[in-house]
Amino acid sequence: MNTPCLDLPFSCGPSVRRKSRAMSISWGSNTVIVGGDAPVVVQSMTNTDTADAIGTAIQVQGLAQAGSELVRITVNSPEAAKEVAAIRNQLDRMNCSVPLIGDFHFNGHKLLSDYPDCAQALSKYRINPGNVGKGAKRDNQFGAMIEAACKFNKPVRIGVNWGSLDQELLARLMDENSRRAEPWDAGAVMREALVTSAIESAQQAERWGLAGDRITLSAKVSSVQDLISVYRELARRCDYPLHLGLTEAGMGSKGIVASTAAMAVLLQEGIGDTIRVSLTPEPNGDRRQEVIVAQEMLQSMGLRAFAPMVVACPGCGRTTSTFFQELAAKIQGYLRDQMVDWKTQYPGVENMTVAVMGCVVNGPGESKHADIGISLPGTGEQPVAPVFIDGERSITLKGERIAEEFQAIVATYVEKRFGGSPRG
Ligand code: SF4
Repeated sequence: MNTPCLDLPFSCGPSVRRKSRAMSISWGSNTVIVGGDAPVVVQSMTNTDTADAIGTAIQVQGLAQAGSELVRITVNSPEAAKEVAAIRNQLDRMNCSVPLIGDFHFNGHKLLSDYPDCAQALSKYRINPGNVGKGAKRDNQFGAMIEAACKFNKPVRIGVNWGSLDQELLARLMDENSRRAEPWDAGAVMREALVTSAIESAQQAERWGLAGDRITLSAKVSSVQDLISVYRELARRCDYPLHLGLTEAGMGSKGIVASTAAMAVLLQEGIGDTIRVSLTPEPNGDRRQEVIVAQEMLQSMGLRAFAPMVVACPGCGRTTSTFFQELAAKIQGYLRDQMVDWKTQYPGVENMTVAVMGCVVNGPGESKHADIGISLPGTGEQPVAPVFIDGERSITLKGERIAEEFQAIVATYVEKRFGGSPRG
């Protein structure tokens, strides 16, 4: 999608994608490819207690239905490990085949060996090389996790995080740095430590028998500029698939903006094979928001399409009522809800654009650019709303039921255009 037209003026689109190894992550007949020529994969993580099998299965299903192609769950205790197979069984009963990734820290070596059902029910293991033990224990414990991955034929993510960076490695690099003629600043040493930790750990896993195409890497930090710098370097030094994410991105608009600012730069440069947007939800907030943000990021950049896009103007002094805002929100919610069925019924519908505009200034023009659009009356304009279909003015709505009628027109359009019957 969006191959840049480099020999033309105003070329647009992302750079050629970095060539990485392709890794497959499977459960049953569902195989997700990360890396290679595969599209960028969206993933997310639950925030339930994994020992609560039903609650976790329900949240995993919700994330998967929202479009998360992989879902990570915490496996932090024997109680959690004991329930992983039950979560998997429950998901299978609910017809949800999304692959589960187990997130291990500190005791992963023990849990994977004590609970083989857990090791088998997971489709991938996340290993943090900063949290696998210190000194002589490190190799044994990290080695035990790689052994489990080989035994159960599971891929792994070597997931470094600056909040839990391998302190022995950092000390070694600081020592080396102090002997440089012109020592680097502390930030540069930290970034080097993140990249080195990820790559050296992956190479060690390969020496212990894990195939190179069973490894993906991440090196997460919470600063936008650090993340860009670290991933550019990772991309330069290896061909493992890369999982992008700004860790501890924060809440609400701050988390969304920071994640997008960092990941969009990298994705535009062709770096990144799978992404997670790590948003802190509001208390009792909807965990699925991180999936929607990740999808909207990729779709806005033209990298993938997940659901029809609603183009809506911001409103201004020409729109003194909230009607058009309500209509835009309603149509957006309607389109997203319908996608659960539409994605199988109406292939290609995810590429559709729908314009909901507030007045005559840009309304008709923007509506003509969309597949289907409505230009609502601004303050002082005639109380009519022309609808445009495929660039042509179609009908004009008026009265109390404009919202319902427009929604019905959208549904009819989708059925005609994407349902296999001749386009009307
Ligand atoms: S289309 Fe009209 S209502 Fe919307 S921002 Fe532009 S001038 Fe304002």
